[in-house]
Amino acid sequence: MPSNLSSEPVDPKKPWTWAEAIWRERVASVRAGRSLKPAAWKDGARMAVALSFDSDHETIDLRNGGASAGRMSQGQYGARSGMPRILDVLERHGVPASIFMPAVSAMLHPEEVRRVAGAGHEIGIHSWIHEFNSVLDHETERDLSLRAADALERLSGTRPVGMRTASWDFSPYTLAIIREMGLLYDSSLMADDEPYELLEKGEATGVVEIPVEWIRDDAPYFNMDRMASARPYGGPAMLLDILRREVDLAFEEGGLFQVTLHPHHVGHRSRIFILDEIIRHAKAKGDVWFATHAEVARFCASEAGTTAC
Ligand SMILES: [Zn+2]
Repeated sequence: MPSNLSSEPVDPKKPWTWAEAIWRERVASVRAGRSLKPAAWKDGARMAVALSFDSDHETIDLRNGGASAGRMSQGQYGARSGMPRILDVLERHGVPASIFMPAVSAMLHPEEVRRVAGAGHEIGIHSWIHEFNSVLDHETERDLSLRAADALERLSGTRPVGMRTASWDFSPYTLAIIREMGLLYDSSLMADDEPYELLEKGEATGVVEIPVEWIRDDAPYFNMDRMASARPYGGPAMLLDILRREVDLAFEEGGLFQVTLHPHHVGHRSRIFILDEIIRHAKAKGDVWFATHAEVARFCASEAGTTAC
């Protein structure tokens, strides 16, 4: 077996030519380690519910190099109409949430940061300007991650403890940066329904993963690009049905229900009922712990006695 795999010639277009050591190295780079699903959730609750909202707003167009007033206005809708509606629903139900914000979005909407933080919700890192990490070198991704954390801390008064990569684009450097920053958790990967510990090249990191899924994300169902051939399918009732089924089985399995919603998608008049209904559905089960991603990660880490937390 070669000692320095990264120096081996590897043709990215011909994976069938790769030595076994090469594909094994790639798979092992970032991997799900032990499950951190606790025997019971806080105060003996049977299910944990972790609601999250990615306040991308105008950065979706900005990160594509855009300057479209039309697309920018869709982003502004998220801040101006969507988020206030979401925060009202959360307040009415008295449940916490995690809001992941690109630093540029937070700087464009400091009043949203203040309102979110003031209501006791968590604010997590979500890139600088919604950039794709996989096109960056290590130094640039590190610099943007650190600056994003600084900006959120400056605006919210609290240093973020968790990261969600923009578009869930987890680069070969992301985990090293998360570890260097001493973050409690990541919420960008999809190896399980339940929280787990991240492994880096086989080594336990103590970093908690709060897994996400496109299935439990409103963007694939609602995202509309006039010029793209793929269009949204289904409607709001379909998404509610999917999320209800996710809640039902999470409860049955004594697990975590996690969801990712966007103010510019779910915040519309014809869609906000999804959030309201899903909270009601979970509450109706009784014995449910609503928590931020940070609270879930902290609880799992302390139950499992992981080292880095
Ligand atoms: Zn995002």
